[in-house]
Amino acid sequence: MEEKPNALNRRDFIKKAGLIGGALSLAGAAGAGLVAGSNKESYTGWGRTAYGGDQFFNRRPFRVETPTYEKVGTPERIAYIEDFFKRLGELRRLTFSRNGEAPRWSFDQGVDALPEPLRSYYKAHPGALEQYRFAMQRAAEQRENWPKYKDEFMLAQAFSAAHASFVSGPGAFPPQPDGPPEESDFRGVNDTGLKLKSAGHGSELIKQVAHSFGASLVGICRVKEEWVPQGFLRGVGRTDFDVPKHWKYAIVVAVPHEWDSMYANPTYGTSYDAYSNLRFIVGKLEVFVKRIGYSARSHFPPTSYELSMPPLAIDAGLGEQGRHGVLVTPELGANTRLAAVTTDMPLEVDKPIDVGIKRFCNKCKICAEECPSGAISFDDRPSEVIRGFRRWRIDQEKCYTAWNWVATSRPSGCRVCLAVCPYSRKRNWIHNIVRVADPRDPTGLFASSMLAMQKTFFSYPGAAAYLPPPDGDNKTYLEPPKWLRTDEWFDK
Ligand code: SF4
Ligand code: SF4
Repeated sequence: MEEKPNALNRRDFIKKAGLIGGALSLAGAAGAGLVAGSNKESYTGWGRTAYGGDQFFNRRPFRVETPTYEKVGTPERIAYIEDFFKRLGELRRLTFSRNGEAPRWSFDQGVDALPEPLRSYYKAHPGALEQYRFAMQRAAEQRENWPKYKDEFMLAQAFSAAHASFVSGPGAFPPQPDGPPEESDFRGVNDTGLKLKSAGHGSELIKQVAHSFGASLVGICRVKEEWVPQGFLRGVGRTDFDVPKHWKYAIVVAVPHEWDSMYANPTYGTSYDAYSNLRFIVGKLEVFVKRIGYSARSHFPPTSYELSMPPLAIDAGLGEQGRHGVLVTPELGANTRLAAVTTDMPLEVDKPIDVGIKRFCNKCKICAEECPSGAISFDDRPSEVIRGFRRWRIDQEKCYTAWNWVATSRPSGCRVCLAVCPYSRKRNWIHNIVRVADPRDPTGLFASSMLAMQKTFFSYPGAAAYLPPPDGDNKTYLEPPKWLRTDEWFDK
């Protein structure tokens, strides 16, 4: 059996679990918990963010020296072309016409006609290009089908577009770095002449300010070289580079998506609500850190990062990586989106935590069962070694296919795996018990019974149901909120 942090002994745990089990088995207990969870007060990260008020889970008993990702070889930085979004960007620049010019490449020309490094990548991963082609076919179908669905999803689209309007174009915030990091990260840094009392004071100050800017969770870690992708630097372009020396620490922040639309994924959810919230938080944090005398660079979604965020957030003690590849935190579950600020400000780092999420994932597999594209591994244990770490493989090309397939992918997205994850639950008494009891259980019984309850009390539409007809029924995981249902507010 794997060792668990702060585990009670078996007899004590079973005694306590018996009491909890008795409580949980009372008729209506689950229902009461769900009702409490539907109360706005139990929303994590909404209106209660100042001064760390939402970071309600006590991490202290679960801190560990070794992060929960499994190192099995020499860590390597991810190369530009292995990063899915960078690769996608290259391919899209070739396959779509720009400024009235004809596309520079089409599928009919074959892989040999691709420029390097795309050609070598797709030769080494032959299924990936075919999957991209399939995704583009689904996207074309979706555009054709859109008139059938546009009335139904008008409000969801408006909600998404409102958030997305801050993400690109001339009004986008924060501005992108301009020039090499040694210049842009120091632009606007104040010479205050003041000396920070200690690194501990620095961390406490930064966390309070980040919470006041709207962060639900904040953690701090050192920047390890292996978490800095190679081959592209904002402000410079395509280039190999050494990790800048002043990227000493990362201040990692997390927010949830709006909960009710997240539960109504894929058709009523949006990534852009969390994206725009994160951009404002780290953009303001960058300005704040520079004004108090230190270098700063914000890294933010959708793709403006020089960091691999999930492992960095694990180092910063925010959570663990789930089977679906997304960071899972005790407070927000998989409904967690990440951004960061790198800085040379003296800071005290947090420790990683082990709350048993990785072990739970070995048994659970709900996200894999519900994923409409089959992108998530069903393996019993993480089985692939990727750049020196053992992990579950996520087929990003397949995932991207679902984004282009589900009915409201305008802007595109799916997020079913975030919604169905048992950890993505609001704050109520049942979930608070589970959060602290499961990681202390040396037997694994608690996790097994929680999983059984999860599968009994929560019904799941099934992977194909999320797709549009004829493949599925445009199902959502849970019902969309009234405020996003067009027919509640508009007549046809
Ligand atoms: S976002 Fe959707 S398609 Fe992608 S892994 Fe999650 S459930 Fe699967
Ligand atoms: S749905 Fe289950 S298997 Fe997937 S990340 Fe969440 S806990 Fe892990």
